[in-house]
Amino acid sequence: MGRKFVYRFAEGHKDMRSLLGGKGANLAEMTSIGLPVPQGFTITTEACNDYYDNGELIRSEILNEIDQALAALELEQGKRLGSDQDPLLVSVRSGAVFSMPGMMDTILNLGLNDTSVQGLIAATDNERFAYDSYRRFIQMFADVAIGIPKYKFEAILDQAKEAKGFTDDTQLTSQDLQEIVTAYKKIYLEETGKEFPQHPKEQLLLAIEAVFKSWNNPRAKVYRRLNDISHTLGTAVNIQAMVFGNMGENSGTGVAFTRSPSTGENHLFGEYLINAQGEDVVAGIRTPQSIDRLKEDLPEIYQEFVNITKLLEQHYHDMQDVEFTIEKGKLFMLQTRNGKRTAKAAIKIAVDQVKEGLITKEEAIMRIEPGQLEQLLHPAFDPNDLQKAQRLTGGLPASPGAACGQVYFHADDAVKEAKAGKEVLLVRQETSPEDIEGMVSAKGIITARGGMTSHAAVVARGMGKPCVAGCSQLQVDEVQKEITMGQVTIKEGDFLSIDGGTGAVYIGQIPMAATALDADFEEFMSWVDQERDMKVRSNADNPRDARKALEFGAEGIGLCRTEHMFFDEERIPLVREMIVADNLEDREKALEKLLPHQRGDFYDLFKALDGKSCTIRLLDPPLHEFLPHDKASIESLAGQLGMPTRMLEKRIQELAEFNPMLGHRGCRLAITYPEMYQMQARAIAQGAIQASQEGFTVAPEIMVPLVSIVDELRILRKLIAETVDQELEKAGVTMSYTIGTMIEIPRACVTADEIAKEADFFSFGTNDLTQMGFGFSRDDAGKFLGEYIEKGIFDKDPFQVLDQNGIGRLLGMAVKLGRETKPDLKMGICGEHGGEAATVGFCYQQGLNYVSCSPFRIPIAKLAAAQAKISKNGNAVSRDK
Ligand code: PEP
Ligand code: MG
Repeated sequence: MGRKFVYRFAEGHKDMRSLLGGKGANLAEMTSIGLPVPQGFTITTEACNDYYDNGELIRSEILNEIDQALAALELEQGKRLGSDQDPLLVSVRSGAVFSMPGMMDTILNLGLNDTSVQGLIAATDNERFAYDSYRRFIQMFADVAIGIPKYKFEAILDQAKEAKGFTDDTQLTSQDLQEIVTAYKKIYLEETGKEFPQHPKEQLLLAIEAVFKSWNNPRAKVYRRLNDISHTLGTAVNIQAMVFGNMGENSGTGVAFTRSPSTGENHLFGEYLINAQGEDVVAGIRTPQSIDRLKEDLPEIYQEFVNITKLLEQHYHDMQDVEFTIEKGKLFMLQTRNGKRTAKAAIKIAVDQVKEGLITKEEAIMRIEPGQLEQLLHPAFDPNDLQKAQRLTGGLPASPGAACGQVYFHADDAVKEAKAGKEVLLVRQETSPEDIEGMVSAKGIITARGGMTSHAAVVARGMGKPCVAGCSQLQVDEVQKEITMGQVTIKEGDFLSIDGGTGAVYIGQIPMAATALDADFEEFMSWVDQERDMKVRSNADNPRDARKALEFGAEGIGLCRTEHMFFDEERIPLVREMIVADNLEDREKALEKLLPHQRGDFYDLFKALDGKSCTIRLLDPPLHEFLPHDKASIESLAGQLGMPTRMLEKRIQELAEFNPMLGHRGCRLAITYPEMYQMQARAIAQGAIQASQEGFTVAPEIMVPLVSIVDELRILRKLIAETVDQELEKAGVTMSYTIGTMIEIPRACVTADEIAKEADFFSFGTNDLTQMGFGFSRDDAGKFLGEYIEKGIFDKDPFQVLDQNGIGRLLGMAVKLGRETKPDLKMGICGEHGGEAATVGFCYQQGLNYVSCSPFRIPIAKLAAAQAKISKNGNAVSRDK
């Protein structure tokens, strides 16, 4: 027997997600546990891929299966598509493996035509409802399946309302709607040159094809790229018997989360509209009411709904996002899925569910996307400045976080201005999936219409972008590009500030402050720490940053770039004196003056760390980086140094290099000027001696950068060790210290067995390793990397996410070779990749002892490390995208 491409809901279950898509698998699961689900069938993701493989044609084998499933559905429902007696109507919805909110297209009320609309009238005795359904269907079908713009239909609806002085769609009479249907069909004919299709089978096949096609529409592609979803998965199509929320006052529709998706609080959170269809809520066309109102309107239904949501949470062990419809006093569940949530909510829900016994700590750890923590670590407005801020208006607190920027009214403008370096707030009546790139570029989003589950709210929360939705007092004119509110006018380019946690909108710019992390976060991180067996250190270049890193939970310093200590106002003249010296004697004099400064820094650093590891890297950058290049600064420096300007210019010329990143830098400086590293080694030893004499525990790790051949390290190791030992001897102190190297040049990776003979530790400098491995400059690659990503050559910027396949292999080779020489050789990573979740997981698999990253990313690295350990133990829990 060949593959099966169509499954009735009663045939599937939740673990068939890759075949049935998330929605289809969950509809099948809800059916199997006895919940009230309108029945239907799912066409598999394999059918979608087959459609593309087959030159965008549905094969007859699949068409036959669709026919059979439809016949079974008609039999079960006792209704037929297109019938003039109580016709069957269906919805056609996409259902990808990972949820892609608003990205794919849906068609409702399929099966209506001039005959079946009469059947619907007869069956429901509700002519208004029947025509309303018909006009909705024509509009959606024309938009989604044929591509006729929505606004053409909306204009007719608005005209009809205006002519009667109505404000609400529900005020339109049956006669009005019948006229609207006629007008809609006329548009269809004008736009396509064909009559609106009357045959329900033709409607169905066109709709199915439209869903298949929507898998590859531009906004779906952008969403997948942003969310790391493979383009090859395909979408399933769900065909489901329609139920109606617009059949009077005992009908309605809504969406709900079993816990708050913003804060994580454990109470039902949702919105519904009485006498309406689901699309009204999702599209934000009508502003819905709180789910609490349902308790008053239909108390029994409310209770049944609460019971079902509790059961779903128990069943799925996670917070659920559900859609429901009430048709003439009967409740139907249309969808359930794990709900999207802010980072704050994700942590609270995970912590609460562990306490409720619903999930284990390991599951809680696996459930949080490490990158999502970044949201929590983002700044909020400075409270003092906030007090003084001028509030413009308030809306719904749709996605928390503070943002400030210049307002733009179109996604394209937002993208353009953000590229030009501006901080942008995107302001729209309401957003739609076409706005996605503008939303990505913007710092925050404001909408005038729509609720907490509108497109803007859902998408912004997923992105972790601040969003204030439904600011109904604002008149947003997208054509004139301005907002008016009473006397106030805000024009394109003016500054506004928003707080997505409170819903407040302020005039002008408000400065930011750091946010405090709450008790749930602390508790969650304590579980992460218990689970984790790879250390997380921080990069810090001075004692102040080191203290901050410890506050953030660093377990040591993985990289102290000592040259950053040189840029201080007091020191830079001494550094320059050292650099321009053209003889040893003058250089040593200048270095002698620098020594006390460095000693003081190291002393403070060791005190702050009190026994925690500290890797100090000796001077690395090319020397010209410390010198001025414009005429005026050169003249001024010449004055300070008491040197003729011409001589200084000549010296600067001598130091200039064509490819400084591949030039005289790193350990090469010390091979030619050993006195530089000697001074630094002496300063480290003296600082360490002083701290240890005061009772602090000290164990310096001295690191040599840019080694490519073992002899460099052999020579410099001897120099450093002799210098340190001399100081220790002089002070009569014994202290253990280690000397290691950065591994950041491909040659070092492939000869790591030799280099390991002279190294006590390796630290992978993946910034340089990426630069040198690819052979493109860190400073210039920005010019073309964007295009590489657009053209699909790279998925991600390799300077942000380690290229595991290439640069990662070099790293893996170095680990293996290094440990062949010294099985216990300590190894870590200190390039920017050390705080990126996927790279942290990779480093764990390679057997590194620690990762080192910037302070703000420590929690991310810790969580990724804990997850890597859990996955290695085979306890991986799959996480929804
Ligand atoms: C590296 O190359 O990865 C590194 C950490 O050093 P730097 O960025 O200072 O070159
Ligand atoms: Mg480097």
